[in-house]
Amino acid sequence: AMNLAPFACHPANSKGRLHPEVAAPTRTDYQRDRDRIVHSTAFRRLVYKTQVFLNHEGDLFRTRLTHSLEVAQLGRSIARALQINEDLVEAISLAHDLGHTPFGHAGQDALNECMKPFGGFEHNLQSLRVVDSLEERYPAYDGLNLTFETREGILKHCSLQNAQRLEGQEPNGVGWRFLHKQQPSLEAQLCNLADEIAYNAHDIDDGVRSGLLTLDQLDDVPLFARFRDEATKEHPQLLGQGMQRRCLHASIRPMLSAQVYDVMDATREAINEYRPTDVESVRALPVLVRFSPLMREQSLELKRFLFRSLYRHPQVMEMTGNAKRIVRDLFAIYVHSPAEMKPAFAWKAQQGDDTVRAVTVADFIAGMTDRFAIREHERLSGERLMA
Ligand code: MG
Repeated sequence: AMNLAPFACHPANSKGRLHPEVAAPTRTDYQRDRDRIVHSTAFRRLVYKTQVFLNHEGDLFRTRLTHSLEVAQLGRSIARALQINEDLVEAISLAHDLGHTPFGHAGQDALNECMKPFGGFEHNLQSLRVVDSLEERYPAYDGLNLTFETREGILKHCSLQNAQRLEGQEPNGVGWRFLHKQQPSLEAQLCNLADEIAYNAHDIDDGVRSGLLTLDQLDDVPLFARFRDEATKEHPQLLGQGMQRRCLHASIRPMLSAQVYDVMDATREAINEYRPTDVESVRALPVLVRFSPLMREQSLELKRFLFRSLYRHPQVMEMTGNAKRIVRDLFAIYVHSPAEMKPAFAWKAQQGDDTVRAVTVADFIAGMTDRFAIREHERLSGERLMA
């Protein structure tokens, strides 16, 4: 923890862990959180979970794991420049998608529909549930017993209803800020923006390599077109045969850098304007880790393009339909026959009322990798919906 600004999260001022622990001899509390996340079961499963492209559609596309590593890389670079806590940024980044269902957003939407009568399903809340309850590592308690600051960062969004429930379980805990309209630490704010920068860039890359997007289509996206024009002006050979991949990288690389430097500059400016003195004052201010207004607009434009042209592409939509059916079918089957789940979940589902049963089924499904969900669906329904 060298060169930390006063408004950074200092491990010595941490709000601590739910179950107090003796400090580690060589690692700070946030380094320890990061290590626990890397060694968790949920973290290993990220490699077999879809980001946008199905895990088995190709070996070169991003998965939730490589996405999380890219978020951590971008976040750490920016954190160092802003003198905020790089270890905490790394811990939050690596954990931010732990609660994601199989099949990306399609899986999450389907599970949310199934869970509507029982309070719904939110993936950010589920990520917190993974580190707080579902990981089984310690003899005396559930979860990984992470610090408040890491947990605060993992719970990026939360409905008011769930915030109230969390506040009831843990007064002045991670739900509090949603009830009082406050911000999380700068480290947590940074992870949200690094997430966005990472997927905007890698979805272009995966989109073009999959053939669902063309480089020509990207002419309509100013943020990309600017850097592609600069790259091809400087290196005209990029327009030649067999150069598409290099052209793509020669455009995405400066696009990423420009966003990183923009965040550093705009955030420094916001810090100079609001002058936070410590983490508590950060929590009471507006979001300070930000893009400049121009970059914000261009980033939104890129997002809208990806939504229209990639996330709504007929080939992606076909996958989406099958994925939703798998999740819905599995939910109905397990609620009806909990014994079909792994023994620990089957046991838990039979210990309470309908809500306990539904939540346990949702935990089991959310934890699945894409291929496990496909196999389970085939085993239980006799129908194979995906290759
Ligand atoms: Mg993410």
